Amino acid sequence: MHTRKKVSKQKVIDLGLSSLHEIGADHICKVCISNGGSCCSGCRHLSNKVGCQLRNTSCTAWLCGFLKYVLYETGLLQKWNDFWDQVPGKDHRVDYTPEFFFIQQSLRMDYMRELSEALASDLQDLARTHITVGFIFTLREKMDQNIDKFMSYNKEPAKQANIKRNIKILSSHFHRFHEALSDYRQRLPSIK
Ligand code: SF4
Ligand code: SF4
Repeated sequence: MHTRKKVSKQKVIDLGLSSLHEIGADHICKVCISNGGSCCSGCRHLSNKVGCQLRNTSCTAWLCGFLKYVLYETGLLQKWNDFWDQVPGKDHRVDYTPEFFFIQQSLRMDYMRELSEALASDLQDLARTHITVGFIFTLREKMDQNIDKFMSYNKEPAKQANIKRNIKILSSHFHRFHEALSDYRQRLPSIK
């Protein structure tokens, strides 16, 4: 059983940012941003060449389809979602999270930067070689929708199996990522 622990909003944001670093999100974001797909585009809190001026719990918790996919494959997505479900006041690009509140479970991600680095290389290749403009962003949205569906059917294995097949097809371009994932799984045999 988890015990309740008082935390500050800043502590939760710091935990989220250090977890994103362990995941290697920056590798993927770099490719995404350089191809014009940044999720911060048009946000009033974004300062040119400086970055986000209002880091909040909402944007720290939010995962795009690519980042969701890394956590889906490593079996850590539920852990991520459970952690952020405890954090009140999340909204779009802003939060109403109190300065202090209680949580029951903390967040600690495994080191998997090599996975994101591999996925970033796959995405860069796809962006360079695929003739359809915005191909990787269409893929990102499809990944996002399918993974959300997969998570929501956690009590319906037959439906989950169908969605799992879709995700497998969508991710079939990610050759370097799959190699890195296989190495990662060998290091952590408990992951299916
Ligand atoms: S959409 Fe995803 S990969 Fe792109 S900048 Fe945002 S978090 Fe990073
Ligand atoms: S508030 Fe969110 S969307 Fe806006 S710049 Fe910061 S991280 Fe990006």
